[in-house]
Formats: sequence, C-alpha cells, structure tokens
Amino acid sequence: VFNHLVRAPEDPILGVTVAYNKDPSPVKLNLGVGAYRTEEGKPLVLNVVRRVEQQLINDVSRNKEYIPIVGLADFNKLSAKLIFGADSPAIQDNRVTTVQCLSGTGSLRVGGEFLAKHYHQRTIYLPTPTWGNHPKVFNLAGLSVKTYRYYAPATRGLDFQGLLEDLGSAPSGSIVLLHACAHNPTGVDPTLEQWEQIRLLIRSKALLPFFDSAYQGFASGSLDADAQPVRLFVADGGELLVAQSYAKNLGLYGERVGALSIVCKSADVASRVESQLKLVIRPMYSSPPIHGASIVAAILKDRDLFNDWTIELKAMADRIINMRQELFDALRSRGTPGDWSHIIKQIGMFTFTGLNAEQVSFMTKEYHIYMTSDGRISMAGLSSKTVPLLADAIHAAVAR
Ligand code: PMP
Repeated sequence: VFNHLVRAPEDPILGVTVAYNKDPSPVKLNLGVGAYRTEEGKPLVLNVVRRVEQQLINDVSRNKEYIPIVGLADFNKLSAKLIFGADSPAIQDNRVTTVQCLSGTGSLRVGGEFLAKHYHQRTIYLPTPTWGNHPKVFNLAGLSVKTYRYYAPATRGLDFQGLLEDLGSAPSGSIVLLHACAHNPTGVDPTLEQWEQIRLLIRSKALLPFFDSAYQGFASGSLDADAQPVRLFVADGGELLVAQSYAKNLGLYGERVGALSIVCKSADVASRVESQLKLVIRPMYSSPPIHGASIVAAILKDRDLFNDWTIELKAMADRIINMRQELFDALRSRGTPGDWSHIIKQIGMFTFTGLNAEQVSFMTKEYHIYMTSDGRISMAGLSSKTVPLLADAIHAAVAR
C-alpha cells in the first residue's frame, strides 16, 4: 500500500550529519549541527547533570508513574522564574501559565497549535532567514507563515529598517516570532535599544510576540543578560508566549526538555489558558517525559547546583567566543580576502560566514568540512586543533 511513496529529502540540517557519517576521511569535521563539543571534539554531559542523575537513581522513593499533562509543577514554576526573573511582575500576579513540553521544538508546536485554535489571527511572521524548522512547525500547527526582513547580507548585520517596515505593515494582531537571543542562523541580535523600539512597535500595533529562547546563557554566558529582551516585553504588562529549550544550555539535547509559557492579562485568564493547553497536549502525546525535567528542576531548585551550572555554562559560552577570535585571527594571518569581523561580532553558537553554496560544497569535497549550504558553521563544533584546517578551507574557497 505504500508503493507509491517517493523518497523524502533529508532534513537540511540533520542531513549534514548523515553525509558526514558516510565520509571515511580521518580529518573530517562536522560544523553542521548545533551541538556543543569539547576541545577534543567530544559531546559534553555537564558535571552538574551527572551528579543530579546519580542522586535521582539512588533515590528509591522515586517512581516512574505518569506525570501530569502539563508536566512537573516544580519544573514549570522554576522555568518561568529562569526566563522572566525571580521578581517578575507577571509571576507575582500569577499571570503566567507554564507547561513542560518536548524541548524547544515541542514548545513551539504546542504554542502554535494553541494559537491556531484559540487566537483570532492565524498569521505568524518569521524573520528571514530563520531556523529551518520554524516554517514547518507553524504551518503544520495550522498557522499561515509570512516573513519579515531581518538580516542584511551587505553588512552581515541587522536590517533594522527593513524589520521595522515589515512589522509596521503587518496586519494588527499578527503573531511575530522573535529569537530571544543568539539568532539562528545569523548570530545577529538587535541591541537593547533596538529591542525597545521593536517592543514599542509591536505593542502599538497589538502584534503578539512569540519568543523562541533556545540559547539562554549560551550567547553571553549570563542567563540574566540573555533574557533581557523577553523581560523588556514582560515589564510592559502585555501578553506574550515563550518557548524555552534546555537542549543547549544544560546539554540535555536528547532528553527533550523544554517549556512553553504564556503571559496573560490576569490570573483568571492564565488558568483558563492552561486548561485549554491540556486539551492541545493530551491527544498529541498525553504527557511529557519525567527524567529530563527532574534533572532541570533539581538544578534550578538548589542554590549550589544552580551556581555550578552557571560556571559550566559560562565555560561553554567562553570557549565558543574564543573560537570566534581564533578563527578570525587565523583568517587574518592568512590574508584571506574580505572583511571577517562579523565572525567576532556575531553572537551565540553559529557564525553566518557569508560563504555561498558553491564555496560550501568545495570545502566539503576538498577539505571534508561539513556545514549547511547557507554557510552557517557551528562554532561549538570547532577547537583550537581544527581552526587551522577550517581557515585553510575558507581561504582556498574564497581565493578560487
Ligand atoms: N529554536 C531554535 C532557534 C533552535 O536553534 C533550536 C535548535 N536548533 C530549537 C528551537 C529547538 O531545539 P530543541 O527542540 O532541540 O530544543
């Protein structure tokens, strides 16, 4: 009965790893997927995570019963506190509802389905470019996807004027997806002053902000600093949604742990919103998994564990920032044509190199370096050992 099926294309991001795995070269380098690697190129489980997992295993009072549809209560409360801040007026007024979801992607999907069902405007505006999964997630959730200008290739920076124009002409009430920090794939974020202007525009047009926070703490090394744009919007008392992921900042990629928060106008509305979120989640996957959220809740709850986490998180962020400097220096010392200062200016896990698809495919073929065809490289996959190889490859690709 499935004979008619044509083979589906690989996911453009995950497909990079499939191609990498097939390459027998001993020097091959995967800069495609956004996952942190150590200086030795190995995946990292944070010490604080290992310690909490040991405690959880040794605690015989724990069981594996289903958790509620909306997830672990502690996890939800602490996740809201992490993104909004302990003294957030929305939390104090009980105007926030938070539900545990399957990492960032699941949180976006649940939020998208909720909006498609209950919000009066079904159009969501995404930045150009954006994470490749965004349009698919929101389309399948039942929203119609439009775009707003974000990145200016000429300056390799923010197209702030274009952004203001496009959001300024969006129909009132439209949903706007905003990357909370460390924009993927460009590494280009608005300044806080620009965020303030974006906020004024969004509120004056009654647009609905939906923040995607996949990199809190990963951009600057500070959890609070990276949450500033979200907190700016919460402070004005308006409504918003936030999808949080613990994949990157706690290295819990495969545990699929995240949260969707919806900030409402009153505690009463928030509790009705939560009741409707349950109806979205129940037929989708019934209830979320227990393990990852238990790890996160334990860390967020305990001052010492939390402190240890921030130290390890800062070390990851600093290593990425160092890689930016090393790559920039390596290109400069080779005299590679072009201005590469965007490598040190951009923020977060990725550098949007400006290399085109043809140059990327040359680097893959000749240097066994793998990345997405838009020229995005994961700085977290780079080490002092592999920087010279990447710099050689970029130099050769540009000089061709
Ligand atoms: N949003 C953005 C911008 C991302 O870069 C990612 C991960 N690449 C996600 C959401 C979702 O990641 P996850 O589902 O693994 O939390």
